[in-house]
Amino acid sequence: MDWYKDMAEENFQPKIVAFVCRWCTYTGADLAGMSRLQYPPNTKVIMLPCSGRIDINFVLRAFMQGADGVLVSGCHPGDCHYNEGNYRARRRWTLLRDLLDTLGFDLRRLKLAWISAAEGNKWAQTVTDFTKEITELGPYTELHELCDCVESPLAPEAAIAAKMAFTEAKPAEDALLKTVQQAFSEEKVAKVLGWRSRPTLKRTSPDWFESAEELKDLAAPPAGVNVVRLCDEPVLANEPKLGVIARPRELASLNVLTQEHALNPEQVTVFELDADGKYLRTGTLRELSGEVAQKFPEGQVVGHSAETMQKLAEFMQKPRAERFAFWKEVSQHCLHCYACRQACPICHCKKCYVDKNQPQWFPTAADGMGNFSWLIVRAFHLAGRCIGCGACQTACPADIPLNMLNATLAKSALDNFSYQAGVNPEVPPLQADFSQKDQETFII
Ligand code: SF4
Ligand code: SF4
Repeated sequence: MDWYKDMAEENFQPKIVAFVCRWCTYTGADLAGMSRLQYPPNTKVIMLPCSGRIDINFVLRAFMQGADGVLVSGCHPGDCHYNEGNYRARRRWTLLRDLLDTLGFDLRRLKLAWISAAEGNKWAQTVTDFTKEITELGPYTELHELCDCVESPLAPEAAIAAKMAFTEAKPAEDALLKTVQQAFSEEKVAKVLGWRSRPTLKRTSPDWFESAEELKDLAAPPAGVNVVRLCDEPVLANEPKLGVIARPRELASLNVLTQEHALNPEQVTVFELDADGKYLRTGTLRELSGEVAQKFPEGQVVGHSAETMQKLAEFMQKPRAERFAFWKEVSQHCLHCYACRQACPICHCKKCYVDKNQPQWFPTAADGMGNFSWLIVRAFHLAGRCIGCGACQTACPADIPLNMLNATLAKSALDNFSYQAGVNPEVPPLQADFSQKDQETFII
């Protein structure tokens, strides 16, 4: 314990929060106490029913409210009292660590462990080692300074101006127009989702068309917008004959909604376009959903452009502190307008977690803590679900490079779990599933 006394003399007492499952680690900690094992007293233990219950927001909140280190621990794989809670947690931690790494978070400050009820010694040793490591690292000043920041300056003027530029709508292709008109006249569809030209606004925006007459306003798809955003629950629940004009990105989005049981693939007629908006064919979503992977260049993570993946690879070559400084700078421009959420085809929860205020887990102010939390929570909520359409970044008035965070999680899903969002509507969503073989090299 000498090292600890030496450090204590320098007046730094690390604040460590440990989230532990009640059945294994908490009982292990109890055993350490009953066995009178000595270890540093800096760790505050918070007991949860299962490691599967340890939400990333608990971890973030602990860091953002002053913790210098966070320890998360549960039962060993195979020992979970709910059978699979720790397997599910392990998958989430893998994704979270990769996201935090891109954001330049200091991963040495987040320790993950399996400690059983019989491992009082392991608990005491883990807490001792971790306290020593955090003491050597010192206070987590860069994060705490970010969280103390209350300013939220606007994004650079040029970025805002580019976002405000008007684009003239182009009329829809004849072949597509005729096909959709015919589907209406044969009563195969009652509502069709496509792009409406709005000449006075000099805009093209997603909209529902409810008759063949309305199709006079049908426009060609613009870049950067995903019409599936309008597939919300009331429409899906109440209309059995829907049509969607879909490029590969929309098709992938519909597949994710199918996986999440938000729609019935027999209910949707797809008017399929290629990536450039050229009409290809018509079929039910069930018939067309299986070929999404082939619609993107070989080797590309579905939807996420080769350019974004390249940018991410180059960004990850930078030192951690530089990555953190980059996100600190860009995140301060966030307005908390939630345009990114509104533009996303996959964000379809009835009530968004961040809008809940009883209890309010999410800091909603547009300040350092609120902005950084939003970057993490938004991206992580879409881990294994985002199909990389880029609509969120297009919508962001502050020009925050959200695509890079989305691509991080897409890469993590592919590298760690061989999973690509939106490719196969028949498999469970990434975070609703687990494998006993999922890797865990980062867990002690
Ligand atoms: S998070 Fe962004 S890129 Fe991913 S599906 Fe949603 S809008 Fe598209
Ligand atoms: S659209 Fe941009 S500015 Fe608005 S909440 Fe999302 S990240 Fe922040």
